[in-house]
Amino acid sequence: MLLFTPGPTPVPQNVRNAMSHETMHHRTPEFEAIFEKTRKYLFNLFSTEEVIMLSSSGTGAMEAAVSNLCHNTLLNVNSGKFGERFGKIAVANGLAKVEIKNEWDTAVSVEAIVEAVKNNSNIDAIAVQISESAGGLRHPVEEIAKAVKEINPKIMIIADGITAVGVEKIDISNIDCLIAGSQKALMLPPGLSILGLSKMALEKIGSGKGYYFNLATEIKSQRKNTTAWTAATTLIIGLLEIFETIDRDGGLEKLYKDTAIRAEAVQAALEAIGLHIYPKTPAKSMTTVDDVDASAIRKMLKSEFSVNVAGGQDHLEGKIFRINQMGLIPAYEIVWVVNSVELVLNKLGRRKYDGTASRVFNEIFFKVAI
Ligand SMILES: *Cc1c(COP(=O)(O)O)cnc(C)c1O
Repeated sequence: MLLFTPGPTPVPQNVRNAMSHETMHHRTPEFEAIFEKTRKYLFNLFSTEEVIMLSSSGTGAMEAAVSNLCHNTLLNVNSGKFGERFGKIAVANGLAKVEIKNEWDTAVSVEAIVEAVKNNSNIDAIAVQISESAGGLRHPVEEIAKAVKEINPKIMIIADGITAVGVEKIDISNIDCLIAGSQKALMLPPGLSILGLSKMALEKIGSGKGYYFNLATEIKSQRKNTTAWTAATTLIIGLLEIFETIDRDGGLEKLYKDTAIRAEAVQAALEAIGLHIYPKTPAKSMTTVDDVDASAIRKMLKSEFSVNVAGGQDHLEGKIFRINQMGLIPAYEIVWVVNSVELVLNKLGRRKYDGTASRVFNEIFFKVAI
């Protein structure tokens, strides 16, 4: 079965092997050396002032960011499940929230953010997804961050990059907190989350908030290449192996380039066989199609072609399917995926198979890849 869901993503074989050794104690020079090397790679990936690893799924890092960086009112962008989650986290932490809600195919506008910030001087942090995975939508986070900082540089910009860090180079000039998670673009099992923090974020954190997710406590430890609580040793060993694998494959720039061209080629291939791309501004992390037969297409892809793609949630259940673009994806796998979608349309009596999807994919992808 080919796992093509936009998280969890497949873990490369050599990374699984690296994680299969005997358990290591976390308070040892051996593990600290691994931690130090991994931290260096993370600084290179995030380009931020500080980087912190937490033993939690992505939501843990979202909560740590909100609780440590928002002290009054959070402005959250709800164009899907994950954006909605930021608002729920604020309320659960006793904070006020202002929410900008849009349909899941529609990105928030810079103007709407600016207006909300001008209308409410209590807003001291903004939380937004770079790539909203619920519909495969790209928000203009860099532009939002720039516009907000021009109004008030003290407002914290929290960017959820769980399906963006490792997908494309993120301009962090105006971002205070950039979040990543292990099981999406970083090709690991779930359980590790990472936060990149700006200088201003470090100032605002001060002595931190909460206990387990107190970022001040973690910063102090992790600068000494250790963690406040027991580290997710196995996942950190896996993360180091991921970085070394990306390096061997040509580095981050090549990963970003491959991902971008693959996403472009898949979108063009699916449009060429009459399918419609759901988000108005698609993210590079996944290709999302809305279709009356979405459910049947997904089922047939799995049962007849061994391709596992994701569906939709809530009001989009049965209405969309999402194909992952994150990670080191072999070309022969993605070529098989687009061809399978075309074969499914033939089986459903929608369109006679003529190899268009593969042809269009190949024309775009291999012209650049060769
Ligand atoms: C997966 C995901 C999360 C975090 O979800 P967890 O299940 O807690 O790892 C947050 N934001 C986005 C955009 C995601 O795709």
